[in-house]
Amino acid sequence: MKVYLDTVGCRLNQSEIETYARQFSAAGYTLVATMEEADLMVLNTCAVTAPAASDSRQKIRQARRAGVDEIVVTGCWSTLKPEKAAAMPGVTRVVPNVDKDTLVPDLLQIDVNEFDLEPIAREPVPGARMRTRAFIKVQDGCDNRCTFCVTTVARGAGRSRSVMDVVADVRSALKGGAQEVVLTGVHLGSWGHDFEQPEHLRQLVEKILEINEVPRLRLSSLEPWDLDAEFFDLWRDPRLCRHLHLPLQSGCGRTLRRMARKTTPENFGELVAAARQRIPGVAITTDVIVGFPGETDAEFAESLDFVKSINFAGGHVFTYSARPGTAAARMPNQVHNYTRKERSAAMRAVLEAADLKFRQQFVGTQQAVLWETVAGMGGDYWELHGLTDNYLRVVAKADRDVWNQITTTHLTAVENGSLRGEIAFMELDLRGDKR
Ligand code: SF4
Repeated sequence: MKVYLDTVGCRLNQSEIETYARQFSAAGYTLVATMEEADLMVLNTCAVTAPAASDSRQKIRQARRAGVDEIVVTGCWSTLKPEKAAAMPGVTRVVPNVDKDTLVPDLLQIDVNEFDLEPIAREPVPGARMRTRAFIKVQDGCDNRCTFCVTTVARGAGRSRSVMDVVADVRSALKGGAQEVVLTGVHLGSWGHDFEQPEHLRQLVEKILEINEVPRLRLSSLEPWDLDAEFFDLWRDPRLCRHLHLPLQSGCGRTLRRMARKTTPENFGELVAAARQRIPGVAITTDVIVGFPGETDAEFAESLDFVKSINFAGGHVFTYSARPGTAAARMPNQVHNYTRKERSAAMRAVLEAADLKFRQQFVGTQQAVLWETVAGMGGDYWELHGLTDNYLRVVAKADRDVWNQITTTHLTAVENGSLRGEIAFMELDLRGDKR
């Protein structure tokens, strides 16, 4: 049987379909790159925003039109709307998030313990979701109650995967040739808190860095309240990518309280200062919500000023949209749509300017770049797109295919949303400094 795997939304969803890929391969199924070739499709849906939920439904319709016989749906949207998902034409099975880790063995009626994934190297999922970087799920669910968040509703209580399971996935990714491993979760920073002997994410990172073959290790989004200055000492190891995605959500203390966020602008600012002091060249990116219920002009101005003062290396702006089932959706003083749009434009402009300023400081330096997409441009050169450890997007030309390799690259200019690079094919260490 031919299987097509697809997902909408976060890195956690991506990491889950990568595990499904190994399980289907272990069971002797063929993975295909398009819906048109597939007999069975598994879709991991998302509900974080209304557009994400709509994309999920759109993919189900596309699969139906493409003639896929069996459509299996899992993920946050179908967990929150199981009847709606089951009623969509072509859907043969809806698997709630709590059961998604055994989706493949349950579907194939194979005892999960019969799956010997150890020999199965991670291979990029064929098709649109092909990724060079290996996303490794280390944690699921969340015990926080941020009032705007539907993920905590859809994914349930926080639960961590064992060190053994995580290390096994990391080894499988390395066996498959991954040059970068990305740890991901719903609330990554809470990894280990639910163990009988509680542990901290720091310990998991140290365990993974004990594996010498790990070329690059990146951490996904981290809630600021889970971190302290000492956590940043981990970055003495040059394999740890100098990128921290710390969702701020608002730069105004009063708004943060209505969001039930366990941080303040002051604490956030101190944490950023500690990170910059310990990790030179670190990229700090963020998420900001604008137009949250009750956000006055004064509160928004405070948030904007604070974001300006932090000089992020970039970030996402979410225009608040009420998600059914969240506390914020029931709050008074919902902000007018027009005002939300205005604030979104203003916040984007601030983050884009900071992003450009961050990139400009690396012109003239050399950095190690992992090349993720490579396109033959006819003749004898290739157009490359890649990423530095501190999350700089780089484009370059090369006379050879260096897909999924890390190379020395001189950064020569800022170009659109990236940096233009020239590859110097010579030895160097992971942070771009000549050996
Ligand atoms: S920490 Fe807050 S925003 Fe993040 S998943 Fe948990 S409830 Fe949602």
